[in-house]
Amino acid sequence: MARAPISTPGNWRQLRHNLLRWFRAHARPLPWRESRDPYAIWLSEVLLQQTQAATVVRYFGRFLRAFPSIAALASAEEQDLLRHWEGLGYYRRARDLLRAARLLVSHHDGRIPDDPEVLSRLPGFGRYTVGAVLSQAFDRRMPIVEANSRRVLSRLFVVSGASRNVEARLWELAEMLLPDGGAGDFNQALMELGALVCTARQPDCGRCPLAKACLARRTGQQESIPPRRGRAIIEKQVEVAVVCRRGQRVLVAQRPRHGRWAGMWEFPHGPMNEHESAVDAGRRTVMELTGCRADIGDPLLDFAHAITRFRIRLICLQARWRGGAFRSEFYQQGKWLLVEDLMTLPFSAPQRRLAATLSINPAAAKRSVAESVNTATSMKSGHPRCR
Ligand code: SF4
Repeated sequence: MARAPISTPGNWRQLRHNLLRWFRAHARPLPWRESRDPYAIWLSEVLLQQTQAATVVRYFGRFLRAFPSIAALASAEEQDLLRHWEGLGYYRRARDLLRAARLLVSHHDGRIPDDPEVLSRLPGFGRYTVGAVLSQAFDRRMPIVEANSRRVLSRLFVVSGASRNVEARLWELAEMLLPDGGAGDFNQALMELGALVCTARQPDCGRCPLAKACLARRTGQQESIPPRRGRAIIEKQVEVAVVCRRGQRVLVAQRPRHGRWAGMWEFPHGPMNEHESAVDAGRRTVMELTGCRADIGDPLLDFAHAITRFRIRLICLQARWRGGAFRSEFYQQGKWLLVEDLMTLPFSAPQRRLAATLSINPAAAKRSVAESVNTATSMKSGHPRCR
C-alpha cells in the first residue's frame, strides 16, 4: 500500500501553496469572486447549489440588480422573487432565501452576522453554506465539502464511500488542510480544482497542482474513486398542457403551496392516460382541474424535458373555452390573462417555453386555435396516442 506522501507539516504547506498558486493562475473570472460583500457571497452560494456556474453567471447580476441588499430582498413579494428565479429550478432555495432575509432584517439589522451558530439556524443554511459564506466574507477558518471538493479530497486521501464516517472524515480533512489565513480562497481553490481538473470522469492529473501528493494517482485509483453510482432508472411520461382561450385571454392557474413548482403558474396540465388521445386528455385535464369545458384544437408545441429521473414529453394543445367558471381542488387560483401579462407571473421552465410561443406570435396563435378547434371537434381522437 502506498504511504501517505502528505503527512508532514512541510508537505501540507507545499500542497496549500501549490493549490493557491494554481487557483490564482487558472480560476475562472466569475463575477461573485470580485465581491467580499457577505450578501453577494451568500446569494452566489445559494444560486450555485445544484446549478452550474455558467448558468449562475446569467442570473447573478440580474438578481443583484433586482434585489441589491438583504433589506430589498426581504421586502420582495415571493411571486416576484420566483419570477427572477425562473429556470433555475429547486425553487425551495428561493423561498428559503426570502425567509432567511426576512429573519436577518428583523433580528440582525439586515446584515449577515459573523457567527456560525446564528447562521446555521436560518433557513437554507446547512453546514456547507455556513462555511462557504463565513470563510469568504469574514475569513473564518471554516471548511466546506460539496460535490467538487468532496471528489478532490476523496482522491487526494483515498477516502470514499457513503457512510457517515467517511463524510465526517472528509470534513475533518477539509478542515485540517485549511491555512490559518485566506480560508475563503482556499475553499474556492479546492472547488475550482474539482470543477476544472479533478473532474468526475477522466481527471486531468497531468495538469494538477496536487499530483505529487495525491494518493489516488499514486495508486492508480483516480478514475475509480469515488465509485460510480449505478445509472438512475429513467421513467418516461407523457403529459398534456392546454392553452384555453376565452376571447383575448388565456387561462392560467397557480399551483398548490407545496410540492413541485409550488406557488408557480401554468397552463392547466396533467398526465395523459394510457389508451387516451391527446385531445381527450386535454379536455379531461381542463375539466378536472379547472371545472371549465373546452373545445380542444391542434397541438401548439410538442417537446421533451427532464425533471430528476423523469423524461417528460409535453404535448401542448390549443383550446377554446366553451363554458364553466374556474373552480379547482388542485390549483390555488385561476386567472384569465392577456398573453402580454404572462410575463408578470412565475412559470416553470417548460411552461414558460409554452407561454413564450404565444408571445412570439399571439395573433397567429389565436387564429390558429379558431381554425384548429373546428377541425378537431370533428375528430373523435385526432392525435396520435402517446405512451
Ligand atoms: S492528481 Fe488527479 S486524482 Fe489526484 S487530485 Fe489531482 S486531478 Fe485529482
